[in-house]
Amino acid sequence: TSAFQAQDLVPPDVSFDVTRRFLADNNDNKINLGQGTYRDENGQPWVLPSVKMAKASLDEFNHEYLPILGFQPFRDEASRLLYKGTRALNEDTISSCQSLSGTGALLLVTLALKKLQSAPDTIYITDPTWVKVLPCYKDGAFDFDAYTACLRQAKAGSPVVLHTCAHNPTGCDPTKEQWKLIGSVMKENRLFPIFDSAYLGFNSGSFDEDAWPIRYFMEELSVELAVCLSMAKSMGLYGERIGLVSFATLTRESSQIAESVLQSVQRSTITAPPAYGARVATAILSTPSIRKQWQKDLITMSSCIRLMRKCAYEELVRLQTPGDWSCIIHQTGMFAFLGISKTQIKHLEKKHHVFMLETSRLSVAGLNEHNVRRFAEALDETVR
Ligand code: PMP
Repeated sequence: TSAFQAQDLVPPDVSFDVTRRFLADNNDNKINLGQGTYRDENGQPWVLPSVKMAKASLDEFNHEYLPILGFQPFRDEASRLLYKGTRALNEDTISSCQSLSGTGALLLVTLALKKLQSAPDTIYITDPTWVKVLPCYKDGAFDFDAYTACLRQAKAGSPVVLHTCAHNPTGCDPTKEQWKLIGSVMKENRLFPIFDSAYLGFNSGSFDEDAWPIRYFMEELSVELAVCLSMAKSMGLYGERIGLVSFATLTRESSQIAESVLQSVQRSTITAPPAYGARVATAILSTPSIRKQWQKDLITMSSCIRLMRKCAYEELVRLQTPGDWSCIIHQTGMFAFLGISKTQIKHLEKKHHVFMLETSRLSVAGLNEHNVRRFAEALDETVR
């Protein structure tokens, strides 16, 4: 008998399965709003000009393992990028480890915290998300009251995963004033911030602007924190799986301990991270002309997404589609969260060949000047 016989078939991942259904659809007018990847004006993957420059600039390299903690120049550049202007950077109280993109960074941060003497037994993350608990969304907007009430009642000392910007899936972020209040509640309740940072620079076009909450917590609240950084969206390096997990601690001694813990959990999971993406990202960050181009690329991507939000909204207004769709322009980042029903989402897919997640999250990057009108007309017909 097979070792797998008694096991139930595990259903496919909902997000990747939307892309599978999209690829299997033969309709010429199909639109994929399921997958969170940036697309050009023809709906095709976009290799950033800065990435092309970085690839062309690489010298010959061998294919040895990287050290367990990753490519040192990448760790240095990414830390300088993240923590620019902070005391922690000057005082060298930053520890870091190259990770398998953002997902790998989240894995390592939880394994690292679990390994500590003071290991937490609870971790808070926003609902809706891929796991549960902290409420953050109501009627198309960030639910500040429910969110802070939950933080006040959270078990002291617990880690809380905070989306630094462009909340996935809702696209609803706290304002700076709300961040300040969230920070003070967290400090009061000794909650440990983990900044889940998959869209820095991709959201506003400015890395520094998008990293503001992290630096505010460090500089104004003087708390220890972790950052899980992904380069998937901000450099368009989705498949290279390039990211960084990092702790900003209060003392140099703590950062050395933190790094030793990261090294140990990296070794016991993947041993060493991938080298190629780290070389590309390092070339972007360390070569002034390429870095300048990257800053332009961030502006290109973020402004294109903002423009598509505006176009989609204006089309819906023009069609006098029933309902208030202003959430599309008020939400931010890669995703819009429509709040329509599963039946309507199925109808969009079956009748109009418009694909999105069954939570009603759509990737605005899948819209372009050629398909935005068709999308609006499909949504209009669906909700009438
Ligand atoms: N964090 C957030 C908030 C995300 O939206 C995602 C995925 N888009 C990730 C982390 C993980 O992304 P990746 O592993 O591709 O870097």
